[in-house]
Amino acid sequence: MLTLDAVAHEAATCTRCPLALGRTQVVFGMGRADADLLFIGEGPGAEEDRQGLPFVGRSGKLLDRLLEEELGITRAECYIANVVKCRPPENRDPRPEEIDACRPWLAQQLELISPKVVVTLGRFAAQLLLETSEGITKLRGRTYPYGSAVLVPTLHPAAALRGGAEPLAQMRADFVRAKIALAA
Ligand code: URA
Repeated sequence: MLTLDAVAHEAATCTRCPLALGRTQVVFGMGRADADLLFIGEGPGAEEDRQGLPFVGRSGKLLDRLLEEELGITRAECYIANVVKCRPPENRDPRPEEIDACRPWLAQQLELISPKVVVTLGRFAAQLLLETSEGITKLRGRTYPYGSAVLVPTLHPAAALRGGAEPLAQMRADFVRAKIALAA
């Protein structure tokens, strides 16, 4: 049977898109292979590229804080992944063709982990999974059915770090939505 570790091992040498040229290493994801709660970010930044782990910089610190304060759990109890597994140069937005090329890795993560609740962080993950070009401020604030799971779109932690009280309050409300969906 295919395992998440086996898929991660295969992804580690991926050359499906040009992001492979600029990366230090593939940042496949981290956490429980049987997590009920899956977070999906945008793509690795400099620190993630260095460590090979998702959300280990400033955004990750905020994610950890919200997990603890709103859900009472640590990242070890979830799974954390990204739309693209390799760092875009200069932290630019991932391009549509890079997102397309990387999509099968995320699809395998979703299938193997089979979470109850998927929380997308920022517009790229929300737009990809909901197959829409609607902006994140329109998309967030409610839950969506996603196969046998529930999808909760929220802002990217970087937006809360930039934007102060309102985006942070919105993220907190979305994390509470995720908590309620997990308990349902
Ligand atoms: N931002 C993301 O979207 N993903 C990470 O892993 C880190 C920062």
